[in-house]
Amino acid sequence: MVIIDPLIELSRRVLWPPYTTLDDQQQREPLVIREAEGVWLIDNAGKRYLDANASWWSSSIGHRHPRLVSALKAQADCMPHCAMAGLIHEPAVKLAEELVRVAPKGLTRVFFSDDGSTAVETALKMAVQYWQQAGRPERTKFVTLSQAYHGDTTGAVSVGGVPVFRARYGALLFDVLYPPVSQGAWPEVFESLFKLIAQEKDQIAGVVIEPLIQGAAGMRMYSPELLGTLRECCTSADTFLIADEVFVGYGRTGKMWACDHAGVSPDILCTAKGFTGGMLPMSATLASERIYEGFSGGVDRMFVHGHTFYGNPLGAAVAREVLNIYREDNVLMQAQHNAERIRAGFQRYASHSLVRNIRSLGVCAAFELGEGGYAGKLGWQMFELARERGVYLRPLGDTVYVTPALNIAAQDLDFLLTTLHDCLCEISAS
Ligand SMILES: *Cc1c(COP(=O)(O)O)cnc(C)c1O
Repeated sequence: MVIIDPLIELSRRVLWPPYTTLDDQQQREPLVIREAEGVWLIDNAGKRYLDANASWWSSSIGHRHPRLVSALKAQADCMPHCAMAGLIHEPAVKLAEELVRVAPKGLTRVFFSDDGSTAVETALKMAVQYWQQAGRPERTKFVTLSQAYHGDTTGAVSVGGVPVFRARYGALLFDVLYPPVSQGAWPEVFESLFKLIAQEKDQIAGVVIEPLIQGAAGMRMYSPELLGTLRECCTSADTFLIADEVFVGYGRTGKMWACDHAGVSPDILCTAKGFTGGMLPMSATLASERIYEGFSGGVDRMFVHGHTFYGNPLGAAVAREVLNIYREDNVLMQAQHNAERIRAGFQRYASHSLVRNIRSLGVCAAFELGEGGYAGKLGWQMFELARERGVYLRPLGDTVYVTPALNIAAQDLDFLLTTLHDCLCEISAS
C-alpha cells in the first residue's frame, strides 16, 4: 500500500491551490518541499530537486541566500512593518534612491506595492489619471499585444491577451486595443501595433508590453529593434510606454532590464519577482518626472492609491541587499556566462524530432514539444520524467522552459541541461 504524506491529505482538505485543476489536486501528488537552498528544493524525504523554474521566475540569486536572510533578520529585529502614511523610513527611501540609480534613464519616481499584478494596476491608474490632469481625459484606453500576460488581478487581466487567463472573467474586464494582426511573424504584428498607435493616439493612455519576452504566453521572444521602434512610436504619439519588467527585469535577459537591450527608457516600469530575489512579495512601479509632476497640487490631484504594505521594511531591506549582491557579485556577468551555456545546451536539443522552435535570451530558454499548446500533455510528461531525475521543470503546457537562478553554478546548470536531454531521449523512445 502506498502511504500518502499526511500533509498532502491535509492540503486536499483545506487548500485551494493556484493554477491547479481540482482533479489534479485530488489525484496527483505534489512535492512536499521542506527546505530550499541555492538552486535546490529539498523534499521531506531529503531528495533534492533543481529548481529550473526559480519558483515562478522569482528566485534570481537562489533560495535562502545568506545575505538576504541576514538582511531580513536584522530588519525584523528592528521594525518589521510601519505604514507609510505621513511617515517615512530608511529602508524604503534608500531603496527608492538605489532603484532609481540602476533604472533606465528618466525614471525618477518610485511607487511601491505588493506583487507584479499590483505594480501593473498602479501603472494603469497612474497613466489614466495623468491624462485627466493634463487636459486629455479622453485618453483612457490601453494598447496591448495578444498573448500578453500582466498578472491576475482584474485590471492586469484586462490588459492581458492570453485567452486562457481571460476567458472566464470577460464580464469583469475593461476593453483594450489589440493590433489587428496578432498571428504571424513579429515584424508584422509590430507593424500593425505601430499603425494602431498612430491612428488611435488620441484615446490611448499607454501601451503596455512585456519587453522582449512574453513569459506566461510561452516564452515568446522578439527583437530589441522592434522594442526600439515601439519607443519611437509612443514618443511620436506622445503616449506612454509602460514596460512590464516583472519577469524580464533584474537580469533575466542578461542585462539589468530588458529595455536596456534596445537602449530605451519606458515612461513607466513595473518590477517584482527578482526585485526581492524572490524572497518576499514586494514590487515597485517607476515613473518619469513628467508623470509625477502631473500630480502636483492638492487633494483634487493626488494619486488615490496605496496598499497597506507600501514600502514594507522587510521587503525593502531585502530588496536593497539584492541590489548590493548584484553589484558586488556582478550577477549580470554571471547571467551572461550562464546565458551562453544555456543557449549552446538548448541548440543541441534540435536533434530530437519532437522538439520545435528552440529559443533563448539570457537565463531563459524554451522549446515546444509536439504540436504545442497550453493544454498539451507532453510538457507534463517531461515534468514527470524530470522530477524522477531531480529537476523541477514546470512547463507551460507543451512549452518546456528553464529559468533557473541567474547565478546557477556551472555544474548545476550542466546537470539541468543533461537531464533535459535524457528526458527528451526517453520521450522520443516511448
Ligand atoms: C508574474 C508576472 C506578473 C504578475 O506578478 P505577480 O507577482 O504574480 O502578481 C505580471 N507581469 C509579468 C510579465 C509577469 O511575469
